[in-house]
Amino acid sequence: MTLGRRLTVVLAAAALSTTSTLALATSAGAAPDGADDVRTPDAAVSVDGVAPVVAPVLDAPATTDARSKVASAQRPRRPLFAFWGQKYNRIDGFGFSTATRGSGTGIELTAAWKTYRGATPIKPKKVFVQARVDGGKWSRMKGVRATIGKRGLVKASIPAFVNTPGVAAQTVDYRLKTKKIKKGPRKARRSVASKPVSVRFENQAMYTGDQARFYAPIANLCPNAAITIDTTGEITGAKDAVFSWQHGITMDVASLAAPTGETEASKLAIAIHECAHMKQFYNWGGTAQGWKTLEARSAEIFVPDQNPSGPVIPLASDWAPLEHAADCATFLVTGGAQRTYGSWCNPTESAAAALLWQNLRY
Ligand SMILES: [Zn+2]
Repeated sequence: MTLGRRLTVVLAAAALSTTSTLALATSAGAAPDGADDVRTPDAAVSVDGVAPVVAPVLDAPATTDARSKVASAQRPRRPLFAFWGQKYNRIDGFGFSTATRGSGTGIELTAAWKTYRGATPIKPKKVFVQARVDGGKWSRMKGVRATIGKRGLVKASIPAFVNTPGVAAQTVDYRLKTKKIKKGPRKARRSVASKPVSVRFENQAMYTGDQARFYAPIANLCPNAAITIDTTGEITGAKDAVFSWQHGITMDVASLAAPTGETEASKLAIAIHECAHMKQFYNWGGTAQGWKTLEARSAEIFVPDQNPSGPVIPLASDWAPLEHAADCATFLVTGGAQRTYGSWCNPTESAAAALLWQNLRY
């Protein structure tokens, strides 16, 4: 176990290893000072926020006469088709309505819909997407349509936003807007808009400081990534980094600085590991639903095996197939890494991990 307690293992990347752009300075057997525990690259990715959206049931009919009168008086003014409130909005299928993204990424916008009339709702013929940049005027996104699903959700795939050159960050609000309904009671015919979601897009070309530091090693691998610097540990929790569905690649710089013996190359390799998670996410469609498929597929390929002719690398307690996949993808780029969830990348795993960098699914 002594070996397992040390942070010294430099994995030989498997036969597919590409040119090592971040060769590690640490040689096997030389444990960095102050790093006597096995450290994993990041927080194991959780499934928080992926609970399926269940649109609430409408209020039961009013029971008292007074309430009935109010309800019937309001009835004509109620729209034929409406959206539930902001808390039922989703970005990429997750339960948040604000997010940070890098320039060059799009989102999937979901809102929940309802109708006040009968078992066969009167639906709008079209649902458009509107956007506004930095609080400006709402305008319709040409050629973008949302689809009204049977299960209470309206969904739209919104194309990538590209930041204006020279502008560091822009906040884009998106909402759904229905085409006016032409059927049903006249007073109830109208166009309705959903509550918005809000996405902060960061221009990677304008990154400075630690954002630039951690973007540099992934600029060619994940050019559309956003780097969030977590100063409170709120996003990364107990770990030093995470690929967050809400905030993108997130680095806790203060806790990364804590192990004094860790090389800069090792720290940068963590950003590459997170970039591999980003590839996993987007190669599988960039939604919560795709992530579940990814997890299942990862478990078919990535296994906790050990190098038959090399050092025994201990498994982290939160070892998971998709973490191993991100490790193997990282090793292809770095030639090894100080931080690992453990186990060995066999040739099949390395070949599968290599597909991530080609924007393909394994
Ligand atoms: Zn990870």
